[in-house]
Amino acid sequence: MRLAVLGSCASQPGPGEACSGYLVSSGDSHVMLDCGSGTLGPLQRLVSLDDLRAIVVSHLHPDHYIDLVALRYGRTYGVAGARPIDVYLPPGGISHLRGLAQALSSTTPFWDAALTLHEYEPGVPLHLGGLTVRPHEVRHGIRSFGMRVEDGEHALAYSSDTVMCEELVALADGADTLLAEATLAGGAPQHHDPVTHLSAGDAARVAVRAGVRRLVLTHFWYTADRTRAVAEAREHFEGDVQAAASGLTLTL
Ligand SMILES: [Zn+2]
Ligand SMILES: [Zn+2]
Repeated sequence: MRLAVLGSCASQPGPGEACSGYLVSSGDSHVMLDCGSGTLGPLQRLVSLDDLRAIVVSHLHPDHYIDLVALRYGRTYGVAGARPIDVYLPPGGISHLRGLAQALSSTTPFWDAALTLHEYEPGVPLHLGGLTVRPHEVRHGIRSFGMRVEDGEHALAYSSDTVMCEELVALADGADTLLAEATLAGGAPQHHDPVTHLSAGDAARVAVRAGVRRLVLTHFWYTADRTRAVAEAREHFEGDVQAAASGLTLTL
């Protein structure tokens, strides 16, 4: 299994970066986890859109899905006869995107020529070619779903956006790699009240309790010092710790 980071920022991209987006691949199966601002460019360096099996969205904050709008326009007007791309959304996601479409355009239906919208259910696995993606509900300001991705040999746990919670520990249990948000790391402003995110120390404590081999920190505030964030995590976790960045690729 391979993990490619397309973007690793919260809310707004930092210089040369993008918001949340990850390409997970096993053999010829390619699944995009989240589709935040600026992720479509890096994605196409790695895989043709026609070869993308699906996009799975963790939750309905724009830094995790707003490039679906760009994809819709490009796919609708740019590629004659292209098949729609399957997009798996959290419960309530289809009506959310239809509401967004109403605000953006008088064209109806807005999404259908480009994207086929589905909703997943908590705990029910999606079988996407050689990859199985199981959404696990975590705790955030809105409903949010971490993802456990498996290919029969390896397991990747992705936190989505969340506070420290037992659900996240269970999601990551025994995974090879935990890709965990660390919004409150590296000198980021502590402006979230109530807190809806993890610190690097929180992410590291989850890594310890879940027994993962490698921790990849992501979803950084755009001003965060990532070297400092990694050091914060290493105070609690002795395994491999890395900072995600657009362009980083890892083999599990
Ligand atoms: Zn976010
Ligand atoms: Zn969020």
